[in-house]
Amino acid sequence: MTAKITFKKIEMENTFLDPRRGFQPNVVNSQVRFDPLTGRTGHFSHFGAIKPQQLNLEKYSDPQVTGFCPFCGARREAQTPKFPGEIIPEGRLARGEALLVPNLNPYDIYSSVCIMSWEHVVSLDRWNYEKLSDAFTIGLDFLKRIKAISPSLPYHLMGWNYMPPSGGGLVHPHQQYFATEHPGNRFTDEIRASELFYRNYQTDYWQELVYREQKNGERYIGKLGNSHWLTSYVSFGVLGEIICVFHRVYCLNDFTGENLNELVAGLQKIFSYFSHKGIPSFNASLFFCSEGQRFFPVLFRIVPRTFLNTRDNASDLSFFQALLQEPVSVVLPEDLCREVKSFF
Ligand SMILES: [Zn+2]
Repeated sequence: MTAKITFKKIEMENTFLDPRRGFQPNVVNSQVRFDPLTGRTGHFSHFGAIKPQQLNLEKYSDPQVTGFCPFCGARREAQTPKFPGEIIPEGRLARGEALLVPNLNPYDIYSSVCIMSWEHVVSLDRWNYEKLSDAFTIGLDFLKRIKAISPSLPYHLMGWNYMPPSGGGLVHPHQQYFATEHPGNRFTDEIRASELFYRNYQTDYWQELVYREQKNGERYIGKLGNSHWLTSYVSFGVLGEIICVFHRVYCLNDFTGENLNELVAGLQKIFSYFSHKGIPSFNASLFFCSEGQRFFPVLFRIVPRTFLNTRDNASDLSFFQALLQEPVSVVLPEDLCREVKSFF
């Protein structure tokens, strides 16, 4: 019987005369990997060449900067919008330090921003359970209310840019929650391929992936309750990618308080790892596929981000991602897994 999932890669050697070695030949390795679900490629090269850059958090806390932040102090009450009564009768959702308001620059019909803290700057080591859990709780509450109002919008998403290297426009911690018919090309491709896999094998690809990864162990980080944490075979981030698959949890309504606890617990472990490695920034997503299907479980993804250097604030994304739509990573998923595992 052929395997349902194959991990295909091509290893390459490049030879040049190296000035650092008196122009003697030097052989450098790189890889192209194929995503086992979609077949899309990713490059692995330049191993270990990019080091996470420290950010000057004190500079971000300068009152001259925070003075303009719409999420700071009394401005978050006065300057952020409110939802019309038919969407959120209270106008905004609040819990602990978290406040969820409409996005002034909406991405879809229903689009919100969750301000996660009173403080303008929250370093990775200061995200406690309450702060994270309160933000996710009102974010999910918002998505559930939208689902009740507009059941025809099938997908529900949380997106999070943390700190400037991630593309976040404001340092003040915030997440975005929205419902959509168009969850982006990656999820769209994956949903299509997962449905085909389900039709071919009568099993959910992600469950099969977890089973395979758990068995070989190379990219399997660990399990917290019903959540399985692993590194992606093809990483979207230059410094790798970590995903969490919620086993047999398929849509927003399936996602329980217990699942939320597992998510927060896993995230806190990843933040410990990021702090230890000096990784200052990340992008994250939490994706809920449509109700009724049994082939695409709830997925959380997180990708470390950094400036290439702080001298020029060079981005860690290049023509590869911007124009070729090709991820490039300088860290092998197996090495990342080994490092993160000790924090689980
Ligand atoms: Zn602020």
